Amino acid sequence: MGLDVNSIRSEFPILNRKLPNGKKLVYFDNAATSQKPQCVIDAMSRYYEEYNSNAHRANHTLADEATSALENARRTISSYFGTSPEQLIYTSGATEAINLVAFSWARENLSKGDVIVLTEMEHHADIVPWQQLSKDMGVEIRYVPINIENYFLDMAAFEIAVKDASLVCVVHTSNVLGIRNPVEEIIQMSHDSGAKVLIDCAQGAPHEQINFDDSECDFIAISAHKMAGPTGIGCLLVRKDAMEEMGPFMTGGSMIKSVTTKGSTFQEGHAMFETGTPRIAEAIGWGAAVEWLSQYDMEEVHSHIQEIASWTAEKMKNIEGITIYGDPKKSNSSGAVSFLHATIQSQDLALLLDEGGFAVRTGHHCAQPLMDALGVPSTNRISFWIYNTMDEAKSFVEHLEYVVKRFS
Ligand code: PMP
Repeated sequence: MGLDVNSIRSEFPILNRKLPNGKKLVYFDNAATSQKPQCVIDAMSRYYEEYNSNAHRANHTLADEATSALENARRTISSYFGTSPEQLIYTSGATEAINLVAFSWARENLSKGDVIVLTEMEHHADIVPWQQLSKDMGVEIRYVPINIENYFLDMAAFEIAVKDASLVCVVHTSNVLGIRNPVEEIIQMSHDSGAKVLIDCAQGAPHEQINFDDSECDFIAISAHKMAGPTGIGCLLVRKDAMEEMGPFMTGGSMIKSVTTKGSTFQEGHAMFETGTPRIAEAIGWGAAVEWLSQYDMEEVHSHIQEIASWTAEKMKNIEGITIYGDPKKSNSSGAVSFLHATIQSQDLALLLDEGGFAVRTGHHCAQPLMDALGVPSTNRISFWIYNTMDEAKSFVEHLEYVVKRFS
């Protein structure tokens, strides 16, 4: 049937926005954060207007309504990700979810000399917590390189690195290259070696239906804001046996069973890791986003995005001086197209594109080890989502051609 992109666009008020220079916004920075449909904005406003209250505390009507909404959202979100509410820990995003594994699982279960396998294409969120752990505990980190010819993970190197590993942490889809890693194979090989696996699905979840239970993965980290949800919330999905091995992370209110001046006892399950006042409005907003997204077939969403990305990248390759990093033609590539111009600095290029109304990302994308592997300090990146159109892509290519002709 195909996506009715015009109708989808009409649900996103921001897409009608004109920039201060009068240009119509073309939003191509979706890998950084997606825009939000009206129903998500409304669900959050309704909470503040009608039943704002703390959750899991008082017995009055508003408190009951807020608690029910928070827990209903957990049911909706966990079911969308193919698992049960007990396996979902609310976090502030993928970054906190990964830190939670580092603090609560790794510190409790690893010791000096144990091996953690990462890849060169990880986001800093999946590097720095492990480097800190290595400094504190003496765990060894192994980085699997990418094959610079085709930008894919070197699976032969992975096979060697994983042999005596205790934990493998791999990004599902690179936020720079758009490359989707063979996560099914990675999970299988890691488990065959006796290692637990954490998959960073910050970029994967907006492009593909993630089914946690079917994946047999031990931990999955997700951010809401890249998939139509609000900022400030995400989750860690954790298998039951792994959750039982986890110790407390942040401590304080909500996560305790009892506190005396002598000491404290803690809640079990996800409640142990959700400390302080929960992210109530954000959970409600994410629940609404997931309900909104569930009306679409994610394979259809992905092919829509991938078609625009591969068309745009092919056109860009014909523009003098442009180099593309990644392979947007690959059917499982995510729609992120990283590029550089030979003589126009990436920051300048971003400003020239912004003048045309095009919001693109520039920088190291929190992936400096990947930048080092690519031999560049930064790239420009365009990234597409469900509401982007071929017309926007065409106008982008025209504007880029104009900029390059004029300024290179
Ligand atoms: N991993 C990847 C692959 C990402 O793209 C991002 C966000 N750029 C993160 C982790 C961190 O997500 P957040 O900032 O939402 O915690």
